Amino acid sequence: MTTIALTIAGSDPSGGAGIQADLKTFAAHGVYGASVITALTAQNTTGVFGIHGVPPDFIRAQAEAVLSDLHVDCIKVGMLGDRATIEVVAEILEAHASIPVVLDPVMVTASGDLLLASDAVDTLLQRLLPLARLITPNVHEAGLLLGEPPADSLGAMERQALALRDLGAHAVLLKGGRRGDVSTSTDVLCTADAAEWLEAPRVAIERPHGTGCTLSSAIAAQLALGRALRDAVLEGKRYVTAALERASRVSIGHGSRPLIH
Ligand code: PLP
Repeated sequence: MTTIALTIAGSDPSGGAGIQADLKTFAAHGVYGASVITALTAQNTTGVFGIHGVPPDFIRAQAEAVLSDLHVDCIKVGMLGDRATIEVVAEILEAHASIPVVLDPVMVTASGDLLLASDAVDTLLQRLLPLARLITPNVHEAGLLLGEPPADSLGAMERQALALRDLGAHAVLLKGGRRGDVSTSTDVLCTADAAEWLEAPRVAIERPHGTGCTLSSAIAAQLALGRALRDAVLEGKRYVTAALERASRVSIGHGSRPLIH
């Protein structure tokens, strides 16, 4: 049977992040991709120039059209924008509770543009965190979720990942990203019974674009294919490293560097 993954996220018309990155990632894994769009953005590699949210009823209509027809094996959730969107997405996920969910708590772009209203953080924590099989915040998002400064050490990362798990997430992959001048990028994976450090070589590329979307989609594709969580995360990290390496060899646009799938 064909493996299917669904992304519920925002659109990046320049193809580097959001729905477009998710669908490219699914395809690269041999997984059939479906998409429910929560918001249109007008953006390119230099920044976000506008956001046009999709009305909650029409988000629901898209999801019902997909989920009443396709057998979806995993759902990735990305940009949500505001409280009303979070509420409707939570209702959709609750109605399909047997499908594993990877939640990328998208809040702000690498270029500094806000993708989640600041008054929506509590709703995200209360409504979506408990529904996710895995959440994948970076250090900035983890800090914003906890109302704390971003972790500035590996010890602080582990403490914040455990704090997010204790708030109701089944598992947390807290992404350390590109810290200082170290040659590796270190993440911490906290599950119900363990915390583990995961390292990947740091690819020499300035301002990559779409890494968070791509990692969460790659993990969702792997879960859809039936991999266990830890293996899905390790494979997802390998996929992002390879996509970053490809991105470092090409030039697209005038700003940040979209990953190449
Ligand atoms: N645009 C959309 C629609 C996104 O969902 C995201 C991130 O998840 C971004 C932009 C940000 O991408 P980046 O911070 O990698 O540039």
